[in-house]
Amino acid sequence: MGFDMRIPQDDNYVTGKDYAARDGMKTHAEWLRRHAQKLVQRGAIDNMPTGKTRGSVKAYIDFERWIAACPDEYCGGHELVEIDEPIFFCLSCGNAANKGNYYAVEFPDAAKRVEIYAELEKRPLNRPPNGNKIRRAELSKSALDPRLSRSWHHSEKVNELKQQREFIERRGKPDGV
Ligand SMILES: [Zn+2]
Repeated sequence: MGFDMRIPQDDNYVTGKDYAARDGMKTHAEWLRRHAQKLVQRGAIDNMPTGKTRGSVKAYIDFERWIAACPDEYCGGHELVEIDEPIFFCLSCGNAANKGNYYAVEFPDAAKRVEIYAELEKRPLNRPPNGNKIRRAELSKSALDPRLSRSWHHSEKVNELKQQREFIERRGKPDGV
């Protein structure tokens, strides 16, 4: 499964399987099903994942976490995604617009991820003392400027990431940071 091989550098970023491991589950799909089940029981969403895949979403990096946005214009939900199991199921809407089918998740290929990671890792972070991978990603702060987080949107070219960093490095720290 997966459009591309996982590479060692991917392990430095939070993906769906980190949440599954934290919550004692083996796979991202199992984690999604468990959460979906609770939400269906509560009446918050209508559908369990059907297991089929239709359509796709693009993954991006938000503060060292691989996520994707729900494509339903009425929703606005975001979910963690997993390189080894590229399926998207929105826990805000239950993929209602997709009748409970998964969307496939498109990740940049390994060569592109290497480039993205290399550039993001030039953005220095102040790390919290908490060693938990998920909390570390959530709590780390840019050492230079709040705009310089380890985030990459699928609409951005790697060169744009570089330009953002160079702009801030040239400009120095803003007042009060
Ligand atoms: Zn949604």
